[in-house]
Amino acid sequence: MNTQSYLQISANLAAVNQRVETAAQRAGRDPAEIRLLPVTKFVPEERLRELARLGYLEMGENRVQEMQRKAEHLADLDVSWILIGKLQRNKARVTAQVATEIHSLDSLRLANTLNRHLEALDRTMPVLLQVNTSGEETKSGFSPAEALAAYEEIRALPHLDIRGLMTMARPSEDSEVVRASFTQLRELRDRLSPTDLPELSMGMSGDMEIAIEEGATIIRVGSAIFGARPTT
Ligand SMILES: *Cc1c(COP(=O)(O)O)cnc(C)c1O
Repeated sequence: MNTQSYLQISANLAAVNQRVETAAQRAGRDPAEIRLLPVTKFVPEERLRELARLGYLEMGENRVQEMQRKAEHLADLDVSWILIGKLQRNKARVTAQVATEIHSLDSLRLANTLNRHLEALDRTMPVLLQVNTSGEETKSGFSPAEALAAYEEIRALPHLDIRGLMTMARPSEDSEVVRASFTQLRELRDRLSPTDLPELSMGMSGDMEIAIEEGATIIRVGSAIFGARPTT
C-alpha cells in the first residue's frame, strides 16, 4: 500500500461525501438515500485495494475487459463490479459472470442476449436502462420515447431485474442544460413507474449536486476521488 495515495483517496472521499451531504440538505433529502458509486476505470489495482480498505467495495467500470482483469487480480477481496459503460453483445457472457449490476443496458437485443446467459448461470441481474437525455449522437442509450416500449419488453425477461434508469448529462457550463437531462430522466421514470423503478443513476464529479437536487439515488464519481484520468 502507498500511504500517500491512500490518504489522498481518503481525503477526496471525505470531500465528496461532504458535497453529497450539503446538496442533500439543500434539497431537503436524507443523504443516506444517495449511494456513492466510485468509478474506477483507468485506476490501477493497487489504488483499488486502498479504496477497498476504506470500506468501498463497489466499483464502477466502463469496459468489460478491464473489469474482468481487475476482478481476477482482486479476487481475494469481496468487490461488486458494476458495469456503467457500453456493452457489446459479444461480451455479454463474461459480463453475466463477472458483474453484479449493469447501469448501461441500452438495447433490446442486448437485453435478450444477457437474459439468455443469465439463465444458463441461474442468476438474475439488477439492471438500469440507460437513457440518452442529451440528444447527443455520441451517447448511448434509449431515446426517452424508445425507453417506454423497451421497458415493457425487458420487464418480461425473467433474469433481468430493472431497478431504474441511468443517464449522462450533456457536458455544459450552463447548469440549466445539465439539469434538463436529470429532470427529464426523473420525469420519464415517473411516467414508467415510480414504485417499480426506485433508482436514478445520474450525476458525476462535475454535476453531482444538480443530480442530487433532481432526485439521484446513485451518483457515479471517478475523478473527484482518484484525480484526473489520463487523456489519451
Ligand atoms: C467515467 C464515468 C463516470 C465518472 O466520471 P467523473 O467525471 O470522473 O466523475 C460516470 N459515469 C460514466 C458512465 C462514466 O463513464
